[in-house]
Amino acid sequence: MDYFSRSIRRCDQCGIPLYSKIDSACGNCIKTPPFFDATFVSCNYSAPIDSLVLGLKFGHQLHMATLIAGFLEETIQNNLKHMPTNPAIFCPVPLSRQRLITRGFNQSLEIARPINLPDGGILIPDLIWRLKNTLQQSSLHPDDRQRNVRGAFFTNPALAHQIQGQHLAVIDDVITTGTTLNAIAKLLKQAGAVRVTNFVFARTTWH
Ligand SMILES: [Zn+2]
Repeated sequence: MDYFSRSIRRCDQCGIPLYSKIDSACGNCIKTPPFFDATFVSCNYSAPIDSLVLGLKFGHQLHMATLIAGFLEETIQNNLKHMPTNPAIFCPVPLSRQRLITRGFNQSLEIARPINLPDGGILIPDLIWRLKNTLQQSSLHPDDRQRNVRGAFFTNPALAHQIQGQHLAVIDDVITTGTTLNAIAKLLKQAGAVRVTNFVFARTTWH
């Protein structure tokens, strides 16, 4: 059983499974190209793999983060050959302060922390701030998703100068619509990033 859906062809940009044998990007990415350049995922977000994420996020099973980090590290290593340069800066998708207090930890940071980063890469945990507590993107109509993340993310003013001219990598646990990662990529590109690559543990098979 291929739990990790390794044999599946994916969109180069957003990681969604592709059913066409010729295209390298999905219809959505062709029609409205996202700000990020590539997305690499370890697996599809489906049973039984989803229990790792659910256990981490909602069951406070922090040891799951180490397990997920191991899979994501393999995904990063396997895909370095598809990138023009190794990412120089890795950062997690941040939580808002309010969500951080409720959950007690940021699952994306807990996943990012144990990863042995490729040569030249450093982890900057607080490079991006989330100042607005956004609603679950998957619960929203597509028209409302952009509005939901507008003004939610900022770069840390003390660290933003490090972004200029660099290849940035963003770590997250699950990608669904890609709207959150797109808002972050837009911010990073505006701050001078030359390339933004997402490394995400699991991908839903819908946008
Ligand atoms: Zn796509």
